[in-house]
Amino acid sequence: MAEIKLKHIYKDYNQDVRAVSDFNLDIHDGEFIVLVGPSGCGKSTTLRMIAGLEDISSGEFLIDGLLQNDLHPKDRDIAMVFQNYALYPTMTVYENLAFGLKMRQEKSATIQARVKEVANILGIEDLLDRKPAELSGGQRQRVALGRAIVREAKVFLMDEPLSNLDAKLRFHMRSEISKLHRRLKATTIYVTHDQTEAMSMASRIVVMNQGLIQQIGTPKEIYLKP
Ligand code: ADP
Ligand code: ADP
Repeated sequence: MAEIKLKHIYKDYNQDVRAVSDFNLDIHDGEFIVLVGPSGCGKSTTLRMIAGLEDISSGEFLIDGLLQNDLHPKDRDIAMVFQNYALYPTMTVYENLAFGLKMRQEKSATIQARVKEVANILGIEDLLDRKPAELSGGQRQRVALGRAIVREAKVFLMDEPLSNLDAKLRFHMRSEISKLHRRLKATTIYVTHDQTEAMSMASRIVVMNQGLIQQIGTPKEIYLKP
C-alpha cells in the first residue's frame, strides 16, 4: 500500500536552472504512472527527487501521509531501476540480487530464498553465477529489475529502463514489466519518451514540458483525443 502525494514541488539546480516547477500529483495505491515529455523537460529530475538522489528545493513529497523530503534514500521504501542497469560489475548475478538484502542484514537463509524466488519470477535462475559482462542486454535488464524487486519496496521508479534494448526485446520486456506490475501491484512511476510504452503500460500519463506538468490523463485521454 503506497499513496504518493507531490505538492508544489520545485527543483532549482542553480539560479538559472529551474528544472521542475510547481509539480502537483496525487498517485493512488498501485497506479502505474508514466512520465513523458521532450528531453530536458524535468522527468529524470522528478524521479531522482522522489528517490532521494536530488534534494527537493521546495514543496512536499509524502508516502502514505509521511513526509519523505529529508529521508535518506536508504530509508525510503522505494526501489529504482536505471537506464544503464547500474549492476555491480565484479559481483555475480546472485550477489547483485542479494546485495540490498545483505545491507539490510537479513539472515542468509532468507536472502537465499528471496533471491531464488525473484530469479524464478524473472527467468534468470540459470544465470546466478555469471557476471554482468557475461549477460545479454535483456538479461542485464532482468537482473536490474530483480534487484529492485528483492527489496519488496512499496514504490517502484523506472527511468527509461528499456531504452538500451533493441525493438524486439523492448516489446517483450514491456509486457514483462506490465505482468510484473499486475503481480506485485507496487505504485510505479515510469519515465519514457516512447509513446507506445506510455500507451500500453500507463494507468495515467503525466505530460511534462519545460519543467511544468502540461497534461494528466489516461492513455485514451492523452493520445486519442478527437
Ligand atoms: P529529462 O529527464 O526530462 O530529460 P532532466 O530532469 O534530466 O530532464 O533535466 C531537466 C533540466 O535540468 C534540463 O534543463 C537539464 O539541463 C537540467 N539539469 C539536469 N541535471 C542538472 C544538474 N545536475 N545541474 C544543472 N542542471 C541540470
Ligand atoms: P558470502 O561470501 O558473504 O558468504 P555469498 O553471496 O557468497 O556471501 O553467499 C551467501 C549465501 O548464498 C551462501 O550460503 C552461498 O552458498 C549462497 N549462494 C551464493 N551464490 C549462490 C548461487 N549462485 N546459487 C545459490 N546460492 C548461492
